[in-house]
Amino acid sequence: MNTSGAPPDGKSVEHLDRAVIFLGPPGAGKGTQAKELAKHYGVPHLSTGDMLRENIAKGTPLGIKAEPVMKRGELVPDSLVLKMVAQRIEEPDCTHGFVFDGFPRTVAQAQYLTILLRQHGYKPALVVHFVIDPKLLLRRITGRRMCKVGGEIYNIYERPPKCDLRCDHDGGELEQRPDDREEIVGPRLQAYERQTEPLVAYYRRLGRLHEVNAAKSVDEVKRQVLDIVRGAR
Ligand SMILES: [Zn+2]
Repeated sequence: MNTSGAPPDGKSVEHLDRAVIFLGPPGAGKGTQAKELAKHYGVPHLSTGDMLRENIAKGTPLGIKAEPVMKRGELVPDSLVLKMVAQRIEEPDCTHGFVFDGFPRTVAQAQYLTILLRQHGYKPALVVHFVIDPKLLLRRITGRRMCKVGGEIYNIYERPPKCDLRCDHDGGELEQRPDDREEIVGPRLQAYERQTEPLVAYYRRLGRLHEVNAAKSVDEVKRQVLDIVRGAR
């Protein structure tokens, strides 16, 4: 007999009941952690990129507007993204909270989200900021190598293969993805810093910003994130 009050399948009974926002540079592990947290609480993981692709695939009015913009490789205007987020969080699976990944991107989006959450009766959002030494992050990204055969990921600095540039599993050749080259990553990280600084300042001013040390292992960062969420007002 189950007397502990936990459901028989042993799943967590904790509720998130709020929005959690993940801010962090590309390559810092924020996407992985956002998905992990969403899974832990059984709430949706909301990536604006995925939402846009879904709207386009379903041919919704929003998708029809967004498609040509995305095809041209341009940023979808704020008004469209905000409308899409507003619609998405009204869906029934969002009742117990949700995790944002890659949103908000600007202070204007953040201000709108603050109002939107209040209107829907949610507690103020919790913001998890991934902090990592830029030099370490650069090494993590530029050191990444992928097996051409099985897609296994290595890192020539942190997790090198046993044999030079050959996969441990299948001997496949390891290669660097074009986007992971320093001349591409360096400017991307600088652009990220410029864009995110005001957003970080905005949430710090509201007292909603919590920092994790993203230089730690995936498991350790996961623990830090859960501590923040459990301890939040
Ligand atoms: Zn392989």
